[in-house]
Amino acid sequence: MLAEPARGLPFGSKIVLLLLGFVMAAQATTFAFMRYASERSVREQLARELDVGQRVWERFHESRSRELLDRVAVLAEDFGFREAVSSADQATMQSALANAGGRVGADAGVLLDPSGAVLVDLWPGAQKLNPAVLDDMLLRATSDGLASGVVSVDGKPYLLALVPVFAPRLVAWVGMAHEFGETDARQFAVITGLDATVLSTRDGQLQVYASTRPDHVSTDVLNTQLAVGARDLRRDVLLPDDDPLQPSARALQVSTPPAPAVYVLVQASRSAATAPFDDIGRQVLVLSIVIGAVALAVSLFVGRQVSRPVSLLATAALRIQRGEYAEPVQVDARGELGQLAAAFNQMQAGIAEREATILHQAGHDRLTGLPNRERALQRLAQTLVDSSAQRAAVFSLDLNRFKEINDTLGHAFGDRVLAEAGARLCKSTREGDLVARLGADEFLLILTDTNATESLHRAAFLADVLRQPFELGETSILIDCSIGIAVFPDHGSDAETLLRRADIALYEAKDTRRDVAMYAAGRDEQHLHQLRLIGDLRTCIHRRELHLVYQPKVSLEDGRVEHAEALLRWEHPEFGAVRPDEFIPLAERSGVIHALTMYVLDVAIAEVSRWQSVGIESGVAINLSAEDLLSDTLAERVRDCLQRYSVSPTKLILEVTESAVMRDLETSLRTLHALRRMGIRIAIDDFGTGQSSLAQLKRLPIDELKIDKSFVLSLAPGGEDELIVRSIIDLAHTLSMRVVAEGVETAVGLRLLRQHGCEVAQGYHLSRPLPAEQFVEWVIRSESASGEPHKDSAR
Ligand code: C2E
Ligand code: CA
Ligand code: CA
Repeated sequence: MLAEPARGLPFGSKIVLLLLGFVMAAQATTFAFMRYASERSVREQLARELDVGQRVWERFHESRSRELLDRVAVLAEDFGFREAVSSADQATMQSALANAGGRVGADAGVLLDPSGAVLVDLWPGAQKLNPAVLDDMLLRATSDGLASGVVSVDGKPYLLALVPVFAPRLVAWVGMAHEFGETDARQFAVITGLDATVLSTRDGQLQVYASTRPDHVSTDVLNTQLAVGARDLRRDVLLPDDDPLQPSARALQVSTPPAPAVYVLVQASRSAATAPFDDIGRQVLVLSIVIGAVALAVSLFVGRQVSRPVSLLATAALRIQRGEYAEPVQVDARGELGQLAAAFNQMQAGIAEREATILHQAGHDRLTGLPNRERALQRLAQTLVDSSAQRAAVFSLDLNRFKEINDTLGHAFGDRVLAEAGARLCKSTREGDLVARLGADEFLLILTDTNATESLHRAAFLADVLRQPFELGETSILIDCSIGIAVFPDHGSDAETLLRRADIALYEAKDTRRDVAMYAAGRDEQHLHQLRLIGDLRTCIHRRELHLVYQPKVSLEDGRVEHAEALLRWEHPEFGAVRPDEFIPLAERSGVIHALTMYVLDVAIAEVSRWQSVGIESGVAINLSAEDLLSDTLAERVRDCLQRYSVSPTKLILEVTESAVMRDLETSLRTLHALRRMGIRIAIDDFGTGQSSLAQLKRLPIDELKIDKSFVLSLAPGGEDELIVRSIIDLAHTLSMRVVAEGVETAVGLRLLRQHGCEVAQGYHLSRPLPAEQFVEWVIRSESASGEPHKDSAR
């Protein structure tokens, strides 16, 4: 069973998610890689900028120092200045130094004697150069001829140039200084495009002295960084990276120890370096979003494209499971999915067709193409619902002697007859009526909108239609049928009841040899009772519910009890005594009669053997049914029975009716001859009620005629019965048969019978049928009453 709808995400959504996920992952990877690459590039660029910045700074600083030195050297060559210095007069020296300072554009100046002692000090304010710094400078100047360097005085940095003054021998050292900071940083920034910051030491701490971007320098960080590697001028000082506004910087020490440290910080703007990448990053992000959206749209489209047909097919499969085939799958796709859908539709059509065929076959009879029993019952139920206010009739129709046609002309021919019969019935019914075949030769007709009277006419018409000769190839045959009718709502309101009652009416028609019979009220109960009896008949022998009674057949010549007629009795556990007139026909119809006949033969012949043993010579008369006569083995079985109890065949008379013999004359004659050859006598029972002709009667191997009791019961002198009885007796004697009269109830009747030469009498006037022991007593009594054996007590 197909079937449960798929659990989890729908197929289409999975595709969407997968595609989208893939695209997003690709985007994220690209983005991350780009970030990494740009970061690296920024770092490299910053490092390059700082390298360049450092070199530029060094050149710039050097040229500034050289320029200052040159100007101071020119000053030292000046004649007037040399004169003034040589004078060693304090005031002259001071004015000359101040004068020279003004020409050079220096902010401060100092004049030292050759040993390094300060002669004049023109440092602004109260500031004084650290002597140690001066000593160091003097040392370098002494070895190199001149020296320059950055010195700081109370945290204020200066670029100092120290040059010797010769007149002509060394008379003094002159030093001129620029303030260092603001201007240098600015000019450097203009040249390089980088920021610069000058840091000087004050109170042992580095502090920002001048800067082109003072707000971007963290002095705390600088102090810790520089404290670690202050002597390494090329050391990179990269401030924390997490703040993009923090510039990257390199600290260059410009002072020479022991002078207090002065640094120049070359700063490259990180944000400027990352700016182009940030732009690209933004563009990539936008692009990613666009690509993501496109991917989403595409994957949605693809998902729909793939999943719609699949889900349509799944829905269609569920529909097929429910047995709905009408709607084809509409998949608007080419390629495999389109092919699949087409194949699916073909499959659906195939299933629908096959199911329709199966359904039709399930509801119809192959041979005639007519609806079968199930379908007919459905239709009947439907009709009853539809026409609840109206009337309808159910016909149960059965072809008579169809078995003979099958047996003699073959099944193929029988099939053609059935097909033709079905076709004729269909043609002879009205629209809205239904003709169905229930089985073998049984048909069911449902006639709508008809009443009892009309349905009788229509049934008679149908019987006539079927009675027309069937011309099948070379052969032409005649067929007749029996029809049982049940009318709705008179005879029932549900399909099953109507059908059963139509069947009961059909039996009635067959039993009474009519074409058509209408269901009669009460028959159903009777029928159900009969069904019950038929069921019980199968077990009544085992359950010892049967017994025989014996009615004497007394010779009117000598009063001897020639025979006793064995008559069957059934003591039903629920219904009490059931009359043989009721159960014998049921036993015949249901096939139980063979077992009953064997039982009777066995018990009755055993009884005769017992009688013999007590000196009673009478034989027994046993009734046979038509079915018994049709059995090939009857004669054999009777012989076995007689042998088993050592009873002579002459002690046995078998009674058969004319109609039983005529049912199948040839077979019956064979059986009767076989029995007779054994020495068993045959009596015709109920004579006078059948329609056998004299010619037929002559052909029969008969020993005895039993006049039917209807002529005997009220036999009286001068009546019609007497005439009939006398004619029968004469006829029998003409054909050399003995005559038995049954149903002798009166002495008058008995006397008349004797008068007319009837040989044997049987009836209540002589004795009722008696249980075996009473019969024995009766025989003994009657023989002793007559005084001598074999004298007729009735005489
Ligand atoms: P049947 O063969 O004609 O049997 C004679 C019937 O007439 C018996 O009825 C008998 O009791 C009755 N009868 C005898 N004398 C008189 C009389 O003076 N007046 C009246 N009114 N009736 C009399 P029973 O025993 O009810 O049997 C009825 C039928 O049942 C028999 O008719 C026979 O056809 C059938 N039957 C009985 N036993 C057997 C049997 O063992 N095998 C077969 N195949 N049929 C049997
Ligand atoms: Ca009889
Ligand atoms: Ca009889």
